[in-house]
Amino acid sequence: MQVFRNIHVLPGVEGDCNVYIADDELVIDTGTGRFFPDMKREIESISDIATLKTIINTHHHFDHTGGNKKFRDWLCAEIHIHQKDRDCLESGETLAEAFGERPRVTTVDRLLKDKSIIKTKNFRFEVIHTPGHTPGSVCLYDRAKRILISGDTISGRTDFPGGSREDMTKSLRKLSELNISYLFPGHGAAKSGGVGFVIKQAMAGIQKNAAV
Ligand SMILES: [Zn+2]
Repeated sequence: MQVFRNIHVLPGVEGDCNVYIADDELVIDTGTGRFFPDMKREIESISDIATLKTIINTHHHFDHTGGNKKFRDWLCAEIHIHQKDRDCLESGETLAEAFGERPRVTTVDRLLKDKSIIKTKNFRFEVIHTPGHTPGSVCLYDRAKRILISGDTISGRTDFPGGSREDMTKSLRKLSELNISYLFPGHGAAKSGGVGFVIKQAMAGIQKNAAV
């Protein structure tokens, strides 16, 4: 399903995350891998896989990274993740058990850094380090097109190992300062408009949890 010109989403089902394909160049998150054959078929029908060579993991959780090996083997693509989530991915500490799966170890090819730029034919994504959900969570932001691919940061959830309310509050504050018209989250439907409100709700959610 096309959610923006040159961005497709494969909506997550049964706990899997949304997988985004940008410009026939980037795969953003890979799901648990359970639905890989269906995803492969879908991607082949919408995309030129010859140029699909970069896999970005927004964070290490298994519902976003479990499919990494299958995608990499299929596409001969490189896996990119933030340094602070690298060890969990490489040691298989990705909460696989919570998804009823055995841990899978994935090696990382490249590390993402805050403010680094990922350029494709039509997009210029800035990596924004947004810790809180995990220490190495990132969002991708295209300033000119006002697009944010947010992983699980907008969920506001910090109740996992390595989660931090304090970091999440700072990260959401950072996002609230951006001009965002299109939000492509790790779970749930894409949103156009009203994104500032969604971020505010997430911030309010953290404060409520903190008060308990
Ligand atoms: Zn997550």
